[in-house]
Amino acid sequence: MKAQSLGSIRKSFAPWADPTQQPYIEFDAVTKDFGNFTAVDDLTLSIYRREFFALLGASGCGKSTLLRMLAGFETPTKGRIVLDGEDLTGTPPYRRPVNMMFQSYALFPHMSVENNIAFGLKQEGMGKGERADRIAEVLKLVKLEPYAARKPHQLSGGQRQRVALARSLAKRPKVLLLDEPLGALDKKLREETQFELTDLQYELGMTFIVVTHDQEEAMTMADRIAIMEKGQIVQLAAPPEVYEAPASRFVADFVGSVNLFEGKVVRKDAARIVLEAPGGGEMVVDSTAPAEIGETAWYAVRPEKLRISAEPIEGANVLSGEVWEIAYFGDMTSFHIRLDNGQIVRVSMINRHRFSPLQLTWHDRAHVAFDADAGLLLNR
Ligand code: ATP
Repeated sequence: MKAQSLGSIRKSFAPWADPTQQPYIEFDAVTKDFGNFTAVDDLTLSIYRREFFALLGASGCGKSTLLRMLAGFETPTKGRIVLDGEDLTGTPPYRRPVNMMFQSYALFPHMSVENNIAFGLKQEGMGKGERADRIAEVLKLVKLEPYAARKPHQLSGGQRQRVALARSLAKRPKVLLLDEPLGALDKKLREETQFELTDLQYELGMTFIVVTHDQEEAMTMADRIAIMEKGQIVQLAAPPEVYEAPASRFVADFVGSVNLFEGKVVRKDAARIVLEAPGGGEMVVDSTAPAEIGETAWYAVRPEKLRISAEPIEGANVLSGEVWEIAYFGDMTSFHIRLDNGQIVRVSMINRHRFSPLQLTWHDRAHVAFDADAGLLLNR
């Protein structure tokens, strides 16, 4: 499946698909060992100017180490990092045109907002007049003008986050690195700030690299996402492709929720594959993936792509079981259906109407079905 057919969010921005574009940042076969532990393993990656790039992975997968090597706080054991054509090996952090915003924000508690921002500029030797202009500019950018004289403890979590951002932006780095930038914010504020960050990045035309373990955050903000596992990139793609065409079971399961139906390939033709269905029977799925008859494969279907009914459903790709869990979220309801072989199938249903016509409760018999093109056949 091609990425284009999945739809892109920022349609006109895809420098990685244009062979005439030069990458802005290049990790070239970079390895980082800590003793005999390899945190980043022979990783090659190109990031483009003005890109909002996300490194996504579980705790310990090496994403912060990668960012820290770009910032200059760690030195690669092997390989090199190039920024704008310049090899960064040997360049100390303060000489690199990158700035890092830390998880903890690391604000000076005894200094006002204004002075927190001024600190780095003073260190750079910037004159008083220019400094005042620059501070005013970034405070306006992050909408904190009325708070210039406050100390960090007189601000909310979201405001502190914006001070940290203003401080990073004030130095006008070419690249801003954000390590779990929204981790300390509550859900609502996090959602708002995600949009603010993307707007700001677009307005400033800067390159942002964000490290996160929150897939929603990566999906909302990034042009492309690199999914990392054990120091390596296991998929690099735009958000719709990561979600709709995951490269492996690991990615499918890590990003969003997924049902994985395991079965042997029974038959195949040019466009369709017939798999053993869970608990007997067959599943017919659209797929041109290389799959050998007799081999085990997995059909990955997202919960929102299944239909659910209290009545038996006619046709192919129907599974039946017992309603095991129901979670009502207001906008949608999530059902867990326990098939007769014990597998749990997740189905999510948008609550388009205030009163649901679906009368299902715990322990009822339920039937779920999906179309032949609802998911993706994976063989790893
Ligand atoms: P998190 O989301 O928890 O921050 P991460 O993906 O950013 O995780 P890293 O901080 O890059 O992970 O760490 C990757 C691995 O390298 C971890 O197993 C960590 O324990 C190890 N590691 C990181 N820094 C050091 C160090 N200075 N010495 C030894 N091991 C380290």
